[in-house]
Amino acid sequence: MAEKRRIVVTSALPYANGDIHIGHLVEYLQTDFFVRYQKLRGNECVYVCADDTHGTPVMIRARKEGVSPEELIARMHAIHLKDFTDFQISFDNYYTTNSPENREFSERFFAAMEKSGGITKKTSPQLYCEHCKMFLPDRFVKGACPKCGAENQYGDSCDRCGSTYGAEELGSPKCTTCGATPVVKDSEHLYFELEPQHAYLEKWIPGHTTSDVSNKLLEWFAEPLRGWCISRDAPYFGFEIPGHAGKFFYVWVDAPIGYLASLRNWCERNGQKFEDWWQNPAAERYHFIGKDIIRFHCLFWPGMLNVAGFEQPNKIFVHGFLTVNGEKMSKSKGTFVNARTYLDHLPPEALRYYYAAKLGGTTDDMDLNLADFVQRVNSDLVGKITNIASRSAQMLQKRLEGRLASLAGCEEELGLLDKLRKAGDAIALNYENRRFNQVVVEICRLADAANEYFDRKEPWKTVKTDAESARIALTAALNAFRVIAIYLKPILPAYAERAMKLFGETEWTWESRNASIEGAVLGPYEYLASRIDSAQVDAMIAAAAEKPAETGEVAHESRASKNKKAAAEPQAAEAPPLKAEVAFPDFEKLDLRVGVVESCEIVPKSSKLLKFVLDAGSLGKRTIFSGIRQAYPEPEKLVGREVVFVANLAPRKMSVGVSEGMILFAGEPGTCGGVVAPDSPAGGGTPVT
Ligand SMILES: [Zn+2]
Ligand SMILES: [Zn+2]
Repeated sequence: MAEKRRIVVTSALPYANGDIHIGHLVEYLQTDFFVRYQKLRGNECVYVCADDTHGTPVMIRARKEGVSPEELIARMHAIHLKDFTDFQISFDNYYTTNSPENREFSERFFAAMEKSGGITKKTSPQLYCEHCKMFLPDRFVKGACPKCGAENQYGDSCDRCGSTYGAEELGSPKCTTCGATPVVKDSEHLYFELEPQHAYLEKWIPGHTTSDVSNKLLEWFAEPLRGWCISRDAPYFGFEIPGHAGKFFYVWVDAPIGYLASLRNWCERNGQKFEDWWQNPAAERYHFIGKDIIRFHCLFWPGMLNVAGFEQPNKIFVHGFLTVNGEKMSKSKGTFVNARTYLDHLPPEALRYYYAAKLGGTTDDMDLNLADFVQRVNSDLVGKITNIASRSAQMLQKRLEGRLASLAGCEEELGLLDKLRKAGDAIALNYENRRFNQVVVEICRLADAANEYFDRKEPWKTVKTDAESARIALTAALNAFRVIAIYLKPILPAYAERAMKLFGETEWTWESRNASIEGAVLGPYEYLASRIDSAQVDAMIAAAAEKPAETGEVAHESRASKNKKAAAEPQAAEAPPLKAEVAFPDFEKLDLRVGVVESCEIVPKSSKLLKFVLDAGSLGKRTIFSGIRQAYPEPEKLVGREVVFVANLAPRKMSVGVSEGMILFAGEPGTCGGVVAPDSPAGGGTPVT
């Protein structure tokens, strides 16, 4: 028997400020498939993760909610863990970066970085808000793009023209928290110099991630590597840097160190030594990450590990983003689906199965096509795979006392099972290489073979004429299903658990596929998987449009992201496809009017809504709730402006009150555009035609 491998696996740490959504799940689910496969093989595998808790966004949100950051992160931790658990994601430790272990490791790393001579100091101008009494991270300031002049752009890059710049270059900058105009102040910061490790990293990177990722990274090595700013000014929620009062570790310093801290916490709670895992050259270490954080994991992190004398990861597995129906996830279209919103409408197994069917272990983006999702779950998981068990088990129980036959001497049946068992090697290889889509293809092929056998034997007929031959056919079909369910266990653990009970077993390992269950009486047939309906999907999308996932912003908080080549490539703004044509009489039914904004205020506890009272002239006053708050950090500035609104829309009851109409907005709030207004004053109540 092969020797047990010892494996540490991580997923990137979700930011404590945001919700877990179906985009995140692309990563957690594929990591979980990999980890569960390793455990099924009998390897010693530990899956660690944590909430990423530090940084300005958490601090600001806690301040807004009037709670301490510790209270906020404790609450979010519980919510995240519940989401993951309900999706059957099997962390061995789901910890927090705000831990004593992480503080100690962070200080140890920094001491080593200082000792190596890799820490330098530089003074640079930065935007400071006198009102909030803080330096503003890039995503906390907005203004006009210095290149193209587009308004309302963040301090690091322009959504319209794609150029990157320093926040201090913005035209008429405003603090996004309070709306005040920031001043420019000098601040001294600590940098981790990577150039001393130029040769080391250039050599290390190619063997430790996929070639597309490494080729892209290596482009930067044509020039000296830039230093990485690792400090942030107080006030900051995080760890203060020893010997540098008022300076804190940038959240991206202690986030990857959080993997080690979570592992050590797990070791201590389980009578293990950290050194036997992370520092053990015979152990394997794998990071699963998204392609947006390559720089942090494939450049800075190995640089830090190298200087601090820690083992490197064996491989960094990089995946792409999720698209829904071929488009970027969108809050307004309801495709920014919160994990919880999904679970309110659909079973976790369906998404686990579909993601597995689509994930091929590459950096390509993965599309969740909602129609295909319903179709595949119903036709393959339910109609093809589960069908073998449900019709065989139910027939055996109803007609043949639930007792399985012996297959001794049944050549055809043994041949079928042998074929299924032999397919295990190819499936194993695909699991190991994270080609989960190939695992699913192979499993469906085996299910086809089992169904073909079942249909050919026609046990529903022979049960009336030759009960024992029907019993043999059902026994063979059920054992075929059993092998398939074992192969599916890493993808569908709860499903496999229910299937296992049917056979009266208590544990399945990869080797269990070689056993055959014969002569025994089946356990009760529990429902294994149910069909899903497009109405459930529609309801989920409608709920998500109402309440999209809150997205944390940590990946964009960097003020050190100005490495030209590291910057995001300009994204051509893609207009959504045209809706179906409407007849002119339908258009005429809409009554659009001008309203003068009488008051406009923030709705407490809502990050999206603004409450408008419009003066619509002879139509009277209208109260309208509009989800455009992100476009107007200072809503009172809209008072006196004219806007266009739908005046004959049926009043809509919302949790915050009744909305009597809809204000027209061009663009995506917080990204571009603004309210639609007449070119010159028209007066409240004026029809728009
Ligand atoms: Zn621009
Ligand atoms: Zn401010």
